[in-house]
Amino acid sequence: MIRPVLAATLAATFSLAACAQTRDETCLTSLREAARAQGMARADAERLTRGWTPEWAVLDNLDNQPEFKTPIWDYLAALVDDQRIADGRAQLAAHKATLADIEQRFGVDAATVVAVWGVESNFGQVLGGRPIVASLAALACEGRRQSYFRGEWLALAKLMATGDLDTSGPEGATAIKGSWAGAFGQTQFMPSTYQRLAVDFDADGRRDLITSTPDALASTANFLVKGGWRMGQPWGYEVRLPAGFDAGDAGRRDKQPLATWAARGVTPVAGGKLTGDGPAALLLPAGREGPAFLVLRNFDVIYGYNAAESYALAIAHLADRLRGGGPFAAPWPTDDAGLSRAERREVQTLLAARGHAVGAPDGLIGPATRAAVRTEQQARGWPQDGRPGQKLLRTLRAEPAPAAASATAP
Ligand code: CA
Repeated sequence: MIRPVLAATLAATFSLAACAQTRDETCLTSLREAARAQGMARADAERLTRGWTPEWAVLDNLDNQPEFKTPIWDYLAALVDDQRIADGRAQLAAHKATLADIEQRFGVDAATVVAVWGVESNFGQVLGGRPIVASLAALACEGRRQSYFRGEWLALAKLMATGDLDTSGPEGATAIKGSWAGAFGQTQFMPSTYQRLAVDFDADGRRDLITSTPDALASTANFLVKGGWRMGQPWGYEVRLPAGFDAGDAGRRDKQPLATWAARGVTPVAGGKLTGDGPAALLLPAGREGPAFLVLRNFDVIYGYNAAESYALAIAHLADRLRGGGPFAAPWPTDDAGLSRAERREVQTLLAARGHAVGAPDGLIGPATRAAVRTEQQARGWPQDGRPGQKLLRTLRAEPAPAAASATAP
């Protein structure tokens, strides 16, 4: 005999399961119908909506603000570190012929293309781990940006149906992995961008930005040139501002003729005259006290890849470093500079040696690392912002870990 409480629990469990199935099925049916309405064959629409369910958990990401605002110097320290510059130069050499062809055909220089590749996917090594067919489905069926994500899901399905994306293996449509919001492949394009701008540069009949490096590099160049890239023009450069300079009109959108900036005493840190194609804006990523830049049209083109000034500056600077340029001349306004990826892994290793549960050192600063950093900051009477910088690294290096000390005690 089933006791009433258990019976009620079982009934609730079954109705929850039924609800979940309805939620999944409603979503999948609507996507199938939308694909059919766009002319997709029934067999394709059914095949592409089989073997997976929408990943509803991804909806939490839509409205989540990051709890920690990364200072620009931390952001750049990890994206443009010695390792990425060395890797980027190796990639420039390894793909020299392809990049020369791309420059010839699209009019975008090799260093810029490789810098985008390095920041987007660490030169094709980090592509994201989520089946985007399932995350985009959830975002297409619920949440506050359904119409945008429905368009992305449909673009993805089209790429799969036409064979640009290979879904013939046992994983089917879930073989295509990317970020929670649906960016994927070596260029981290959204599906609609892929649909619009991807290029089959190795001429194998497929636009494959997942496994074909020539396709990925050429598609990056195509994105930039379609966005208005001008060959041979600088993105901008670091400048020096005269004492007493009124920086009230700094900002990427507030462009003025180079002659105006020159008349106001702005000069390139590299020396010589202000150069470039047309009006420029003054960028002060850390305010009046940090490095200053004049940015031109090509900077806006990079910005178009991913709308964040810090992101565009990382790519622009990495490209300069790949060409042999040096670090910025002006220091960031901090007495505690940011960490490279190698240094982040070292901090995590040192924290783990002190008994903190930070997991394997991966160089990614997440909640566990921040919590451990706060504990170490508290122990030293420092402000507890959870941010690991050079200061903490130096301190941890210099102090023996308590666990190691007690292990050697008699
Ligand atoms: Ca291809």
